[in-house]
Amino acid sequence: MIRDEADVTTAVAPSSPLTAVDRCDRCGAQAYLRVELQSGGELLFCAHHAREHGDKLKEIAANVVDETHKLGTSPVIATDGDH
Ligand SMILES: [Zn+2]
Repeated sequence: MIRDEADVTTAVAPSSPLTAVDRCDRCGAQAYLRVELQSGGELLFCAHHAREHGDKLKEIAANVVDETHKLGTSPVIATDGDH
């Protein structure tokens, strides 16, 4: 049995993934959200500012690349204070 997963809902241009050199426009932290504006511009936000401005950004964005989920995949193990 062959499942045809033609999941074409909208024609979205492929966006390049965010990298470590992409920085939040607000605070300079590593960006996890790329907002491609309807005007053609582009904004980058860290997870903190992505959450803070998320609703507003979706109103003006043509496309949003949200990679904030990546933050949850790496375990946060603080080993400082090991004396
Ligand atoms: Zn930020």
